Amino acid sequence: MNIVNPATEEIIADVKEDDSKTLAHKRNLLKMGQKNWAGRSLQQRLAIIVQFYDLLEVETERLAQLLTSEVGKPLQQSRNEINGARTRVRWMLDNAIQYLSHEIVTDTPELKEQISYEPLGVICNISAWNYPYLVGVNVIIPALIAGNAVMYKPSEYATLTGLEIEKLLKQAGVPDEVFKVAIGGRETGEHLLDMNFDGYFFTGSYKTGKYIYERVALKMVPCQLELGGKDPLYVADDVKDIASVAAGTADGVFYNNGQSCCSVERIYVHEKVYDDYIAAFLKEVQSWKVGLPTDEGVYFGALTRKEQIAVLEQQVKEALEHGASLLTGGERIERKGNYFEPTVMTNVTNHMKIMQEESFGPIIGIMKVHDDAEATYLMQDTVYGLTAAVYSESRERAETILSQIDSGTGYWNCCDRVSAGLPWTGRRHSGMGTTLSHQGLRAFTKTKAWHLRS
Ligand code: NAD
Repeated sequence: MNIVNPATEEIIADVKEDDSKTLAHKRNLLKMGQKNWAGRSLQQRLAIIVQFYDLLEVETERLAQLLTSEVGKPLQQSRNEINGARTRVRWMLDNAIQYLSHEIVTDTPELKEQISYEPLGVICNISAWNYPYLVGVNVIIPALIAGNAVMYKPSEYATLTGLEIEKLLKQAGVPDEVFKVAIGGRETGEHLLDMNFDGYFFTGSYKTGKYIYERVALKMVPCQLELGGKDPLYVADDVKDIASVAAGTADGVFYNNGQSCCSVERIYVHEKVYDDYIAAFLKEVQSWKVGLPTDEGVYFGALTRKEQIAVLEQQVKEALEHGASLLTGGERIERKGNYFEPTVMTNVTNHMKIMQEESFGPIIGIMKVHDDAEATYLMQDTVYGLTAAVYSESRERAETILSQIDSGTGYWNCCDRVSAGLPWTGRRHSGMGTTLSHQGLRAFTKTKAWHLRS
């Protein structure tokens, strides 16, 4: 399999894909290794993950360069991602003992009742490319901490990063037969679905996630899905500092070229502040530089997948045909690599693809609304349920709106944000199950109830 730099179209590596035989061999090794790993104390496993955490820091610059060469995001955003992954790992290290140790529920001379958290066994993680470190550590680290062995299939667009994660984990002391990388794309994923694991943890699109869920259902093991979104954001009429709201929300749309599961993908603005907001938003977007992701000061690098450019073009075309206005951008950039102009559209409606289907690119539709009720209705008009945001001076007003939205996350005066201590969870087409927070630590365990009568 050739690994191609999306910013230059150069082939930067050639890796051998796994087949059903190599995968079966890896899985058998994991099966053997898992028992010993689970037999170690939680403290011993944590001591190894601390080493991994430290190695990530030591290696940040090299890893960031590699990540950028593989996925096309600006170098500084690659560094940010690795630092962000470390923050998550730190939270897991600091909280694992509290949430994975036995819990005593009843403690009398006659009866003890307690809960224990046992590892699932050998789990399979099929993952995405947009934040390979972040979505990787969400699963890999708590799974290993809890005593599981892991078969990790990075996206075919983040293979080199997946192999680096493996190298660092081994260097940190994770035994060879406890963590394996499955290399390849869809076909490799299919092989993993043909095999039997003790749990499947998927990050990726709704389409693939739904398919995986159907395949795993027959196996009767846990299946967790972190899928896409069409995340809405509402700017209410009481916001004071329009320029800073516009800057913050534009970053929520365009960071990582809009290739974030929780990117803002729809904006609704109260009519009283609409004109000022649009002017400030455009000014902000037009101040950002597009270019080679390795160049200093570039905000928009290359899109990771070439195919997404056609999706974006189609969304723009369909919106224009139905009466939308194009304020800036709208076209692919004719140069080597996968580049698309930062695009802002207004006069959109919720019937258009740009307001309904995940764009996963640097484009946004912005719509004027009359009041909170209309905004709430439009925000909720989606099959997805990952995040929703409200910008307002009033926390009460924001909470009233957000409590009516069926999403896993609600943001007041912020957006496109993930915290290690809070559950990361989607609803409806955005998935099911939880990573991060104490729930995410326990997601890789099965609980046992102990009734101990003396
Ligand atoms: P994708 O669904 O195309 O691929 C995800 C993974 O599934 C890849 O490793 C791929 O090789 C594998 N795969 C593809 N077909 C398969 C099959 N038939 N059987 C088994 N495996 C198969 O998604 P992507 O393009 O890698 O990622 C982008 C999507 O991920 C977006 O929708 C984004 O919103 C979502 N995402 C969600 C979160 C979250 O936390 N909710 C985080 C990151 C990305």
